[in-house]
Amino acid sequence: MNETIIREMSDGEEVFFFCDKQVEEEILTEQDIEDAWQRLKRFSKYVKVAFPETEKTDGIIDSPIQLINETKTELEKAENVKINGDLYVKRDDSLAVCGSLKARGGIYTVFKYAEDIALKSGMLKITDDYSVLNNEEFKNLFSKYKISVGSTGNLGMSIGLSGKKLGFDVTVYMSEEAKPWKKDMLRKAGVNVIEFKGDYTSALKLARNEAKKDTNTYFIDDEDSKELFLGYSAAYKTLLKQLEENSITVDETHPLVVYLPCGVGGGPGGITFGLKKVFGDNVYCYFGEPTQMPCMSLAMAQSRGDVSVYDIGLGGKTVADGLACSSPSVLAYEVMKGMLDGCFTIRDEHSLNLSRLLYRTAGIKTEPSSCVALGGAGKFSHSENATHLVWLTGGSLVPEDEWERTGLYK
Ligand SMILES: *Cc1c(COP(=O)(O)O)cnc(C)c1O
Repeated sequence: MNETIIREMSDGEEVFFFCDKQVEEEILTEQDIEDAWQRLKRFSKYVKVAFPETEKTDGIIDSPIQLINETKTELEKAENVKINGDLYVKRDDSLAVCGSLKARGGIYTVFKYAEDIALKSGMLKITDDYSVLNNEEFKNLFSKYKISVGSTGNLGMSIGLSGKKLGFDVTVYMSEEAKPWKKDMLRKAGVNVIEFKGDYTSALKLARNEAKKDTNTYFIDDEDSKELFLGYSAAYKTLLKQLEENSITVDETHPLVVYLPCGVGGGPGGITFGLKKVFGDNVYCYFGEPTQMPCMSLAMAQSRGDVSVYDIGLGGKTVADGLACSSPSVLAYEVMKGMLDGCFTIRDEHSLNLSRLLYRTAGIKTEPSSCVALGGAGKFSHSENATHLVWLTGGSLVPEDEWERTGLYK
């Protein structure tokens, strides 16, 4: 079966398939997620003063869920599928600070680094009110440390904007897909932006090598960072309450079905890991990727993490810039291989149509990367009592003239 899927993928066709689950390895634990969550709570007092727009979520960077049953009706017609149960979106496209789901992993990773430094310096105790981190003395402390990261855009935004706010010296290596407005916004904030002619995997290599030369630089490695992964994993902590507030039951006869867009897999992988820890077999998670960059689909179909889409003749341009990754995070693959339920791929024209449909029916504008996830809804059959949740991942910071340039929402 996998041979057929790989052949279809290499022909650039859309595919969807259930994963053959492998034996689960315990690389990270529920305690690790709990630990991350406690750290995010300690930082909430700082977040509230540094990013006042988070006042309403009490300094926790989080987004609401939203019922979109009008979208469901139109989607069923357009895609010729049946979506059993209600359809919701998780609005991570509107997350504070950087307008994408990277606010979960990226900012958490910066916080972890800052906390380690501040505790070690003796200037901070774990029981302190962390709003002091917004003071000059801490900015001076952090300004002696460097952070670097490779990005297709959004990871750089999350780490650049949060790192700079704390006072760090931040360098972002941008791959060629990165949108000019993201580079501009970072430069305005005082982040060093290095443009790289090449794809994401090679931008990462360059950033990693540069960082190795300088022992004072913390390189946040998107292909292998437990911190990034754990920052995403904590997402379920607030989702539980949102499900309850919307009277959504999740149990054996009421599955939760989640669709996530996948780049290197850290974001969707982290979120899936958290959801599986709390809901076990009652949650089903599916990853969506562009047909030209299906790195996690390929890894799942070949049952190994060290794959490259170039090996099957893919790797062409995609409008889904945030998902333009030719190889997956090996960490994400290793954790996902025992728990991911399925994968699907979406052509560019198709994801643009999904963007238009979402806007027409729910008034939501999202980045193309984000909309890939919608294409999975209804493809994998589930019982009538299911709740479907499409995880939107980016869009709220996109400038108006950028939307106009795309011509998507005329
Ligand atoms: C980064 C990103 C993703 C995917 O996250 P990965 O960790 O790369 O898998 C999805 N959507 C958007 C908008 C992103 O920026």
